[in-house]
Amino acid sequence: NEVMVGGIAVRPFKSIDEAVDCVINGGDILQGSAIAINPEKVMLAKTDEELRSAIDTSVLRYADGIGVVRTIRRKGFSNVRIPGCDLWQALMVKSAELEIPVMLIGAKPEVSQKVVSRLKELGVSVVYACDGYSFDESEVINALINHKPKIISIALGSPKQERLIYRLQQAYPEAFYQGVGGTFDVYVG
Ligand code: UDP
Repeated sequence: NEVMVGGIAVRPFKSIDEAVDCVINGGDILQGSAIAINPEKVMLAKTDEELRSAIDTSVLRYADGIGVVRTIRRKGFSNVRIPGCDLWQALMVKSAELEIPVMLIGAKPEVSQKVVSRLKELGVSVVYACDGYSFDESEVINALINHKPKIISIALGSPKQERLIYRLQQAYPEAFYQGVGGTFDVYVG
């Protein structure tokens, strides 16, 4: 149930809800990292080995880019665009419902604080959060091991977030990791 787009296996989804169900299936949370695929990344992955390996080791690749959506449709699958920030928000709503522990890393300190308080109002269990400019990586790893978050959202922009996800997964693979770019800024914006 994946479609090849420029050498990358992308999962077509008919709705954001379907993508959420793929990540959170009752109490089971998909383990691994998710990568938003757009035409720029399809091109870049042909030459950028680091991006290529991030893609190859990811568990979920979703179509975040109309060019990718069109390619999938041409191949006979119905699917919609899954913007990374929409997927993230929908995952937060679902994690509140199911009391799934969440960790957030990234964005400026004031943005990070605002995101945390908005999520807490929504009922999300944020077990650990830090901004993206002054965090200590070994402290983050301790927090992973102590608090055992199941959804980890990382907003550092590319390729920083992908590199951090790679390292954190080595220490703590038992979670769903999503690189969310500028999502936190948009969310509190
Ligand atoms: N950021 C961060 N630490 C850094 C660099 C960036 O936390 O060292 C944050 C920045 O505050 C912003 C996000 O990472 O919230 C990246 O946003 P950008 O729009 O550059 O990323 P994109 O969505 O384009 O990947």
